[in-house]
Amino acid sequence: MQTVGLNPHSDMQSGRDTTAPLTADAPFEMDDDDGPAPLPLPPPDVPLYRCQSCTLPLALTDDLVSRAFQGSTGPAILVRSAWNVKEGEKETKNLMSGTHVIATIRCTGCDSELGWRYFVSPDSSQKYKEGKFILEKSRIYKDNAWSFDDAPD
Ligand SMILES: [Zn+2]
Repeated sequence: MQTVGLNPHSDMQSGRDTTAPLTADAPFEMDDDDGPAPLPLPPPDVPLYRCQSCTLPLALTDDLVSRAFQGSTGPAILVRSAWNVKEGEKETKNLMSGTHVIATIRCTGCDSELGWRYFVSPDSSQKYKEGKFILEKSRIYKDNAWSFDDAPD
């Protein structure tokens, strides 16, 4: 019987002898990804936003940044990260809050257009949006998990 349950690999000691800081802020850069992306999926019991059309999980409700956004079809939310989305080409777009570089995002399951991702914001007051995702409320729904069919009795 193993008695040690917590023994994370020490990948930090891989012979790297550089003082360059490891970049930490962009966990969803998937540049060389062809085919199904092996994204870690959330545990089954956490509240999520899911695709309205195909129910794929899109984002943790914990990753919600703001509910006060406007998408192209109506109200939208801003989330820190998203699963199961594919980005279109980056484009410069004039939004209510200024000129941004964004890319349309679509669901990888059903190809529904879900919203967009921000890449470049016009000024420092908008910087917090960079790298984050807009999900249109009309394209998603909230899955509270605990109200699913495994409800405790
Ligand atoms: Zn979908």
